[in-house]
Amino acid sequence: MNVPLLDLKPQYAALQSELEAAVLKVMRETRYILGPEVGELEAALAKYTSAKHVVACSSGSDALLLALMVLDIGAGDEVITTPFTFFATAGAITRLGAKPVFVDIDPQTFNINPSRIAEKITPRTKAILPVHLFGQCADMEALLKFGVPVIEDAAQAIGAKYKGQHAGTIGTIGTLSFFPTKNLGGVGDGGALITNDDRLAVRLRSLRVHGSERRYYHDEVGMNGRLDTLQAAVLLVKLRYLDVWTKSRQDHAVQYNLRLDGIVETPWCHPDCTHVYNQYTLRTSRRDALREHLKKAGIGSEIYYPLPLHLQKCFRNLGQAAGAFPEAERAAAEVISLPVYPELSVAQIALAAEAVAGFFQTL
Ligand SMILES: *Cc1c(COP(=O)(O)O)cnc(C)c1O
Repeated sequence: MNVPLLDLKPQYAALQSELEAAVLKVMRETRYILGPEVGELEAALAKYTSAKHVVACSSGSDALLLALMVLDIGAGDEVITTPFTFFATAGAITRLGAKPVFVDIDPQTFNINPSRIAEKITPRTKAILPVHLFGQCADMEALLKFGVPVIEDAAQAIGAKYKGQHAGTIGTIGTLSFFPTKNLGGVGDGGALITNDDRLAVRLRSLRVHGSERRYYHDEVGMNGRLDTLQAAVLLVKLRYLDVWTKSRQDHAVQYNLRLDGIVETPWCHPDCTHVYNQYTLRTSRRDALREHLKKAGIGSEIYYPLPLHLQKCFRNLGQAAGAFPEAERAAAEVISLPVYPELSVAQIALAAEAVAGFFQTL
């Protein structure tokens, strides 16, 4: 592959000595569970996002679970969310016995369409769970108007801003993921919760250690949802470079746009938002043929996501047939994401863009 979709090796090579020193320190100090680096990372992330509290946890999926738990969402409750996202968003709702209520997306941003929410609100609606998909925030102002708690799934959007505010800090709770493919990725699983609410933060800390504030005394049933000290140490090093990496992703997007605007539908960035391009996603009705062409040219690509959640086998019981969310279904058939990780060279971006342009020229 001349231009892989993602290669984590150059980033590791660039930071190798710093990362290995940080990891060795944790190994030698042996404070493997909730060691000092976890608190340091939480403070650094709170500062970075200008939020009051950050609670680190075991993954982005568990962050969603903890966010729903701390809002006492459970059996019989409904949570409004998008069908066009990674599975975890709706999986967390279902695992707590609540019902995901899907709302179709805006075709330009791929994010939940607020104008379709009012018709789905019922007395059982306990929260709205938008996803800031691909690195661009959903329309938070419109989402906050419904007067129910908003949980922002910011797994793909660390560093993105909406009207100057950081993704994850605008609603009641925001969730982050440090999965290795995210803009801030660990060397394994990790996640975090963001909130400006003191009481929610205290309870989240308790929920992440089986609902106990004092060891072996349990106020409620929580889970083992901690972030490893080792991951925190790695993320503390990497957080220092996040803005440089984000800038690089944005520069790549500009290069792509210069070469592809007018040839194919490039990502649309809302004027209220800064996009951090966890994915650079085109859309075209000739998606599958384009993907084949790119493969032959040695250019990596991926489909995020090929099947909307309402059509997944595990959600058949929700009774949403094909056609229920036409924009999500059309997006699933038309999107294709190109390589955009920070360490790509200008020449590699040019190569990938030329391969895309070449495909459309031969039509
Ligand atoms: C990655 C991701 C998650 C899950 O995060 P994990 O850390 O992999 O559990 C949740 N939601 C979205 C939108 C994601 O992209």
